[in-house]
Amino acid sequence: MIRVEIIATGNELLKGETINTTTPFMAGNLRDLGYEITRTSTLRDQPDEIIGAIREALSRADIVLLTGGLGPTPDDLTRDALAEAVSQPLEFQPDIWAEIQSYFRKTGRSVPPANMNQAYLPYHAQAVPNKHGTAPGILVSYNSQTIVALPGPPNELQSMFNESVLPYLSRNYPPQTFTMKRTFKVCGLGESHLLEKIGEVLPLVDNDRVRLSYLPKGGEVHLTLQVEGDDQHQAKEIFTPMAERINALLGADLYGLNEETLAGRVGSLLRQRGYSLATAESCTGGLAAHLVTEVPGSSDYFRGGVIAYSNEVKEKVLGVSPDTLAAVGAVSQAIACEMAEGVRNLLAADIGLSTTGFAGPEGGSPENPVGTVYIGLATPGGTSNRKLYWPGQSRYLIKLLAAKLALDYLRREISGDQADEDRG
Ligand code: ATP
Ligand code: MG
Repeated sequence: MIRVEIIATGNELLKGETINTTTPFMAGNLRDLGYEITRTSTLRDQPDEIIGAIREALSRADIVLLTGGLGPTPDDLTRDALAEAVSQPLEFQPDIWAEIQSYFRKTGRSVPPANMNQAYLPYHAQAVPNKHGTAPGILVSYNSQTIVALPGPPNELQSMFNESVLPYLSRNYPPQTFTMKRTFKVCGLGESHLLEKIGEVLPLVDNDRVRLSYLPKGGEVHLTLQVEGDDQHQAKEIFTPMAERINALLGADLYGLNEETLAGRVGSLLRQRGYSLATAESCTGGLAAHLVTEVPGSSDYFRGGVIAYSNEVKEKVLGVSPDTLAAVGAVSQAIACEMAEGVRNLLAADIGLSTTGFAGPEGGSPENPVGTVYIGLATPGGTSNRKLYWPGQSRYLIKLLAAKLALDYLRREISGDQADEDRG
């Protein structure tokens, strides 16, 4: 296996001010391609420590990836440390300086002289182009090894990694194994329920070549199957039947695969069926509409929404009955239904979706404690609702879960194959 070490630098990473996202990003991508990540470390902005760490990594790994410290300020030390570690002088590269200057001019700013530092690279190093910032990355071939230094800002790093580093590594260090991977996404199903559902395939997991990982993420669980083989044929033989089985076992709970989002899936279903959507949100304060409109092109099916936070707005804008409000309160099945119907009429949509609940931390009632949320759904076929309850969760999480579960409820209803236990 090809061994890779990743070294992140930055005082802010050690103080916990910034969460290191670039190491897991690179490690995950490389692992998927069949590289072995043998060590990751995080260092202070301290020149001797960075030089020492690079030299040590070179004594063990084939590829060393460094992040951070390529900026123009005095705490940006990676360029010098790297040159020192491979015993090469820094050399001014006029074409890089020209690119840095043109980057500033394009963004309408004058060129700070300090940025000239960024045009110095260790002798014989290659620049890695950076579309989103001024600092180019640095790629150094050292005997049969390679060291790549990339800037710390995650958006700059990610595109440089995908567009330059990965292609370079797969050309020069072709992975010796073949990996297949698929992520199955579900919403509103806890990890343990998910495990029960797919129990049948668990004995096939060996944690070495056949792996399953679970990532709970704001009301969703992302289950990733990864199979490694010596070649494509070997990987496929295990991967394909297993992936098909997981698909079947998850059934209607599965909302999407890989990069697909819940709101994206809902959008595709609405589009396929020619339905328009309107939202009426109380406890989620617009979060469901926000999720819906995260999807490019959502104006094709999303009419709009009303944040009906007060009872007055529920009555006056959505036409919710004051008698119902007085009788059962705003957090109730009946009001969820009236809100969904109200917004469906008001905004002339095919589907109205509503949320009403107690997000806490104060409030709630004996029959509807904090964490109770009702979702209402008005469709051409009629109105339905669902009651949810998340005790002991934070206000934000309750709002997020409610918004996500509302979308998932809509998805299940319009997919037409909703499981019985999920009906409200
Ligand atoms: P700059 O030109 O912006 O200074 P740089 O290459 O010098 O880039 P740093 O100074 O280390 O990078 O970090 C720049 C920004 O990127 C900081 O806001 C920092 O918090 C963030 N950052 C750095 N390293 C990481 C990391 N490993 N994960 C997430 N964010 C990071
Ligand atoms: Mg910096």
